[in-house]
Amino acid sequence: ARTASKPAIFLPHLIASLEQVDQTYIMVKPDGVQRGLVGEIISRFEKKGFKLTGLKLFQCSKELAEEHYKDLKQKSFFPKLIDYITSGPVVCMAWEGVGVVASARKLIGATDPLQAEPGTIRGDLAVQTGRNVVHGSDSPDNGKREIALWFKEGELCEWTPVQAPWIRE
Ligand code: ADP
Repeated sequence: ARTASKPAIFLPHLIASLEQVDQTYIMVKPDGVQRGLVGEIISRFEKKGFKLTGLKLFQCSKELAEEHYKDLKQKSFFPKLIDYITSGPVVCMAWEGVGVVASARKLIGATDPLQAEPGTIRGDLAVQTGRNVVHGSDSPDNGKREIALWFKEGELCEWTPVQAPWIRE
């Protein structure tokens, strides 16, 4: 009976330790910075319980913007998109957590802010696709790629928030 009870005790911990911790790249776009929405946007992810591992105000080059959005190169709006992203400073962030990529996309809302649900960042704070205030990676692989693109080694922090055991059991 003692050995039979062991899996029931240890299995949840084993499953928890196997859960994938992902990283996502979140960026307050130039309109979000100009409109004074930086604190509001950061606080959505902070309050949710994800861990901030990188943060900076940054004026990006045309080359970096083009590399970041390279999958959209063929789109008619691409030149306008590059002008928009390079039009002023952005706030670059790396966030970490189990399920952070998909959850951040939900917190951000649909690409077209008029279609984004109320309660989402774009749903609450924006009206147009070309001024949709924030970026979030669309997959864990892109999360890693974009963090490596926007941050240098040494700009990211490994740390354990004191609230960690109150965020996840
Ligand atoms: P998301 O940012 O929601 O992942 P996409 O990857 O499709 O959306 O597009 C990247 C960004 O390009 C959008 O956030 C938006 O700033 C811009 N964009 C997308 N579609 C259009 C469009 N039709 N007109 C102008 N800008 C657009």
